[in-house]
Amino acid sequence: MKILVANLGSTSFKYRLFEMGEGEEDLLAEGGYERVGDYGKVIRDALSTMEESGAIGSQEEIEVVGFKTVLGRNLSGCVEAGDEVLEALEGFAEVAPAHNPAYAAGIRQFSEILPGARRVALFETAFYQWVSEAGRRYAVPKGWHEAGIQRHGFHGASHKFVAERSAELLGRRDVAQGVQRLYQDGPVETERPLRVISCHLGGSSSVTGIRSGVAIGTSMGFSPQSGLPQNNRVGDLDSGVIPYVMKSLGLSVEEIERQLTKESGLLGVSGAGNDLRDVRAAATGGDADAKLALELLIHETRRWASSFLFELGGLDGFVFTAGIGENHPWLREAVCAGLEEFGLVLDHAKNEGCRGEEGEISAESSKVKVFVIPANEELVLAREVYRKVSVLN
Ligand code: AMP
Repeated sequence: MKILVANLGSTSFKYRLFEMGEGEEDLLAEGGYERVGDYGKVIRDALSTMEESGAIGSQEEIEVVGFKTVLGRNLSGCVEAGDEVLEALEGFAEVAPAHNPAYAAGIRQFSEILPGARRVALFETAFYQWVSEAGRRYAVPKGWHEAGIQRHGFHGASHKFVAERSAELLGRRDVAQGVQRLYQDGPVETERPLRVISCHLGGSSSVTGIRSGVAIGTSMGFSPQSGLPQNNRVGDLDSGVIPYVMKSLGLSVEEIERQLTKESGLLGVSGAGNDLRDVRAAATGGDADAKLALELLIHETRRWASSFLFELGGLDGFVFTAGIGENHPWLREAVCAGLEEFGLVLDHAKNEGCRGEEGEISAESSKVKVFVIPANEELVLAREVYRKVSVLN
């Protein structure tokens, strides 16, 4: 079954075409466009390119288009991308302005250009459907809650992949199989719990606590401007700051929003850039602000990781994923420092040697196993979409 995974940003369109089947996962084509003004034009162009390269014999061969949608109002999960999804995306366009309007436009375009293909949306919030009410609730007035103000959580595809792969690496096939079927069957009881903390550290970062393959909580909340400091976005911020800044600095809501989403995070603190490599280079060169930005990222990663420990009641696996988590051993070392008492000990040589690939980086003696698991969100999406469509057929 040929599945096209569409990744849409406010001015970008990226795609990967997979051949999916039982025991079969092949990447047939990939490509992308920047500075997109007309999604229809680039989608048509991408389809022609796939035909010309021989990746597809004809456009009708594409059976499903999968969309990695961010969040929808009153809707989550892995669902057919029809009117309900469009309404949910548009209902929360303000919360994810770079993505929701783009996905709504992309879904509409695909329904015109490939009318015979099924469309499936996997919301980034889907993995958090089973977080407890207390874990999702903000202590806001009821009316706000009813208007959708709650913790949603993001990076669901990535953390779910970690849940499945870490269970396999920890010898828990029962949990791994439960994760595979999670969106179809819901959580299933396991005899023994498996307790994992997943750190997705990249341009955008979050930490998720996972019990037996099911998320119990995550660092991101209502919008992606929450949790850990991001590349250029703020992360957690006391709600009292906004009215104070409006009054004392005379900033408008729009200006505050712009600064918190474009000039904050690693960039805002370091002034050295929003790529960790640049911040690290500046810190190594003696820049105190850059050094502080790194310390802040490490501090917040540890703070969020530790926040799930009590609820999990212990830890079996600790995982690093995404661009920063996969490629920066020094940061993993700093996140894991001084945890020997909790049974978490890194193997320094293994940690140093593991860059951009899967590996176990904990010492033989470590009770908690530490892994690097590379993220591949498009493949995760293709898998989920394949599972969804296989159930529908
Ligand atoms: P992501 O959003 O997962 O692509 O992660 C982006 C972040 O990961 C940036 O801050 C980069 O510094 C870092 N990163 C991604 N790839 C590499 C790499 N090959 N080597 C070092 N850092 C990387």
